Amino acid sequence: MSDLALVLNSGSSSIKFQLVDPERHATDEPFASGLVEQIGEPEGRVTLKYAGETHTTTAPIPDHNVGLDMAFELMNEHGCGPAEVEITAVGHRVVHGGILFSSPEIITDEILGMIRDLIPLAPLHNPANINGIEVARRILPDVPHVAVFDTGFYHSMPPAAALYAINKDVAAEHGIRRYGFHGTSHEYVSRHVPEMLGRPAEEVNQITLHLGNGASATAVRGGRAIDTSMGMTPLAGLVMGTRSGDIDPGIVFHLHRSAGMSIDEIDRLLNRDSGVKGISGVNDFRALGELIEEHNEDAFLAYNVYIHQLRRYIGSYMIALGRVDAITFTAGVGENAANVRADAMANLENFGIRIDPERNAERSSLAREISTDDSPVKVFVIPTNEELAIARYAVELANRSR
Ligand code: ADP
Repeated sequence: MSDLALVLNSGSSSIKFQLVDPERHATDEPFASGLVEQIGEPEGRVTLKYAGETHTTTAPIPDHNVGLDMAFELMNEHGCGPAEVEITAVGHRVVHGGILFSSPEIITDEILGMIRDLIPLAPLHNPANINGIEVARRILPDVPHVAVFDTGFYHSMPPAAALYAINKDVAAEHGIRRYGFHGTSHEYVSRHVPEMLGRPAEEVNQITLHLGNGASATAVRGGRAIDTSMGMTPLAGLVMGTRSGDIDPGIVFHLHRSAGMSIDEIDRLLNRDSGVKGISGVNDFRALGELIEEHNEDAFLAYNVYIHQLRRYIGSYMIALGRVDAITFTAGVGENAANVRADAMANLENFGIRIDPERNAERSSLAREISTDDSPVKVFVIPTNEELAIARYAVELANRSR
């Protein structure tokens, strides 16, 4: 077998893992995949999918160390663990790379220290990522570990797009600027577009729309991100499942001063109880669609607010790019919700965007065009695969370092 990478996405109470052959086709199932969940709760669970079967262990999982040990035991038991298969590299998803990291890095103690220094910028995410890195390095000490940063793709964004118009000394002291997130997904999808257009990457201007639970839009010129909707944190930009996206910052002061909410309460409100869920009560687009069919007004309103904000960003990126060759939808909502794509692209014929309703309605797990043959701007659906992208980086860097 060719190289296999172990890809880890370590959250505060869960670890997602995949064993991925980086040479495989984007739509193939990973070699093995699984989830360690409810870490730190009375009952935890490890699930493994391998060779068409699903295996589960339940037991208390006090911390990430125990969780990853259990995952490896389960993998070994079923013939796909490090005891049986050779792992060329471990790829770690790291949410925040600040202005320090523009591309993936082999993890050394020094690099880990730098990721630790970025904790103030991502107090929820980076500690969990670091935890996963430390545990995996303990279990697989002889394999190269590679950090792939969600922010890396945005490192070279022009200052006009990256800077906020706030006091520059305060901004410099506290690292306040637009970092952008979901970069691995936007980069993966945007790299596929020139192939679909049959044009050199340097010539292509495009907008990529990652619409999942979290959602973001990115403008890409010649392979380089020139603007993106998420900001210093992943709370900004588009309306999301539970996150507000852009709001007037004055609302935060008002909620604190007039409504008496604490900063933590406001944080929870904007991150977990807002967005589509905040207006309709549900965050999943399938549930939202069912409510709309039942003529639920709040669901209809939530959907319209979501679409309005999405179109706002598409419009502003069309201006930022000047000429747009392609617009691409990806992630759970972008890949599956034909109505979202149709409504986001409706009545834009004057801007050269023509959707073919039949192509748009077709369900497929393949990359595909949904615009008409004569549409000057091509519209695509390209399934994202962040794990595959991370696996490719990890194996590439590991092989280069040998
Ligand atoms: P994450 O941001 O957690 O990676 P995903 O990219 O997996 O999320 O997207 C998850 C979301 O995709 C779900 O919340 C759901 O709203 C949406 N989704 C998934 N399948 C469908 C579908 N068939 N139709 C509409 N929406 C879907």
